[in-house]
Amino acid sequence: SKVYVKAAEFVGFPKLSDFEIIEQEVSEDLQDGELLTEAICVGLDPYTRFWKTDIGEEFIGFQLAKVLKSKNAEYPEGSLVLQQTGWRTITKSKGEQAWYTCDDLPKNVPQSSAVGVLGMAGVTAHYGLINFCEPKKGETVMVTGAAGAVGSIVGQIAKILGCRVIGCCGSDEKVEYVKSIGFDAAFNYKTSDWDKALTEAAPDGIDCYFDNVGGKISSAVMSKMNLNGRVAVCGSISSYNSTEPDMAPSFQFLCVVKCLRITGFQAFNLVDKKSAYLKLKTWLEEGRITTKETVTNGFENIPQAFIDMLKGSNIGKAAVIL
Ligand code: NDP
Repeated sequence: SKVYVKAAEFVGFPKLSDFEIIEQEVSEDLQDGELLTEAICVGLDPYTRFWKTDIGEEFIGFQLAKVLKSKNAEYPEGSLVLQQTGWRTITKSKGEQAWYTCDDLPKNVPQSSAVGVLGMAGVTAHYGLINFCEPKKGETVMVTGAAGAVGSIVGQIAKILGCRVIGCCGSDEKVEYVKSIGFDAAFNYKTSDWDKALTEAAPDGIDCYFDNVGGKISSAVMSKMNLNGRVAVCGSISSYNSTEPDMAPSFQFLCVVKCLRITGFQAFNLVDKKSAYLKLKTWLEEGRITTKETVTNGFENIPQAFIDMLKGSNIGKAAVIL
């Protein structure tokens, strides 16, 4: 198997020299319960940046893989599986890191969507929005990182639920994209006056905030929250590559005066992941949500594509087809 391991600690944005490919022998002899898989596609996830990975250790991440051989009834030979087995080609496991099989992918989406809308990103969007924002029809939902893998799905689900959906992202092209998939208003956080843009986009204030980025823009959003608003804290990518802590001072104060319910959550804790997958799959098949991905080809290009994703080059899920 080809396996990526950490060659040097990340300082600020990762560099290509922080990544190294090694060859690992994987025996094809299987014990009961084991399966042997070959990766088809790797999803590039921001958590690979902040996860504690020691020098020489493998990187964490999700992949869609084909089961080459199996002594595990849940993941039979020939099936496709979404698994958190990192940036590697061949894997022998007992399926502990598998989330579910993906043999029934919709015909109208690329296979790589198994690591995007039908993978951790989609499950996260669905789980976080429904359970922690609890959006109600007619409410205003704000999404940061709106054009990304998670954010673009959050916005589309909130539209299905009858909400007004607003968001921000890092380029005018991304703003156009999120509007094209149904966002009622969006702005480029790199070029806009946040207070003005939020007031215009949310004339009735914000009821639900799905936060993908954290940092200063989150305080600007919090100041526009309505009383008893709900905040799902999904991620804080604005700080992942920062070399200094970026904690906005008024955040907690705003929570108190507005009686906000803020919940951080991890998609890993969702017990029934497959039911989120099935709901998203149905919506894709019915054309009620769409997916866009930024796809790179070649195992050797994973690090560059990962760095590009952290710098914002992607619309929708960033994935690498092997
Ligand atoms: P994305 O597809 O959204 O890709 C990352 C995006 O982050 C970039 O395209 C860029 O878009 C944006 N970004 C980068 N730097 C900054 C910055 N300084 N300020 C604001 N935005 C920035 O990734 P995902 O959808 O996979 O993940 C989105 C968030 O959700 C991350 O914080 C991630 O850690 C979190 N997450 C949490 C999970 C959970 O279980 N809680 C599971 C999955 C993801 P732009 O051009 O708009 O800046």
